[in-house]
Amino acid sequence: MKRKIQKLVLASVRISRIEYWLKSMMQTRGAILMLHRVREERRHTPFQPNRLLEISPDFLAQVLEFLKTANYDFVSIDDISDRLASSRSRKFIAITLDDGYRDNFEVAKPVFEKFGAPFTVYVASGMIDGTAIPWWIILEEVIRTQDKISFSHNGSKLNLLCESTKNKNHAFIILSRIFNSVSEENQRSLAELFAQAYSFDIKAYQLNEMMRWDQVKELASSGLATIGAHTDSHLSIARVTPEQARRDIQIGMDRIFAKTGVRPAHFAYPYGKSRDAGPEEFSLAKEMGFLTSVTTRAGVLVEDHLDHLQALPRISVNGEFQTLNEFRSIVSGVPFFLANRFSMLDVN
Ligand SMILES: [Zn+2]
Repeated sequence: MKRKIQKLVLASVRISRIEYWLKSMMQTRGAILMLHRVREERRHTPFQPNRLLEISPDFLAQVLEFLKTANYDFVSIDDISDRLASSRSRKFIAITLDDGYRDNFEVAKPVFEKFGAPFTVYVASGMIDGTAIPWWIILEEVIRTQDKISFSHNGSKLNLLCESTKNKNHAFIILSRIFNSVSEENQRSLAELFAQAYSFDIKAYQLNEMMRWDQVKELASSGLATIGAHTDSHLSIARVTPEQARRDIQIGMDRIFAKTGVRPAHFAYPYGKSRDAGPEEFSLAKEMGFLTSVTTRAGVLVEDHLDHLQALPRISVNGEFQTLNEFRSIVSGVPFFLANRFSMLDVN
């Protein structure tokens, strides 16, 4: 339903002339884009439940070309607050990528270099070390290779058929619901058990698919990229105790500093939705010294965000919005302005 409304809003914005009028009323200064993976489309892989987390290098280049033609400046995350403070600033875009996938280095970096576009990679250090337990990846990889899955939870046993793509998608939804409903600690142990039961090597996967530390270091000293923090184990910091949250953030920062020599000054909340990052987490991030922190709440930037630098919204550029027309509407900010009842702030 929510997606239907979103689509309708997008469509109405495209065809209506009020876009120009709304835009001047909103005083949008710029936006932060959120990406995860950048890799070639896997046309022959029908089961892609995490497709939302990736775009192709061609689409990335199209988006950057569009922004360049539309006179947006590409800026580093370091420049956001100055840009927000200056009323004479041109429209700006900061690009961010979460987690630290190897394709960011191998596939996306050359595209950013071509456009001279600075970018930030928020690295979850445990995913680089292979010690994190990224449950959404484990589910996808296990379900892909199985015809049937048996899973015990809360004393009852689930038997899920996974022979067809339809079955596999259904199984992914059912299991995601379970993984999302348990505590962070239980989520970790459930995911570990699940991987073990189906002989999926979580560490080997991450060592293969995530950047190596020497690549993270090369990015950190490239002049074009910034390495941001994203915790160590990629846990939802609002769903653990403040001590656990602080500890996981600190380990992530220390690890990045030890491996690159640069202390991260910017942060991305893992998962980043309202239930993963609210006012308490915004205070914690500020207390831990981050200059900015980004959420996955959707939105563009206005001057008032200067007072909320630990709660910055982003625009997700993802596998579901791979058309420039949709992107153009989104980056205008109009859909958010309408969805937030004529306010550009979503910070509670
Ligand atoms: Zn993440």
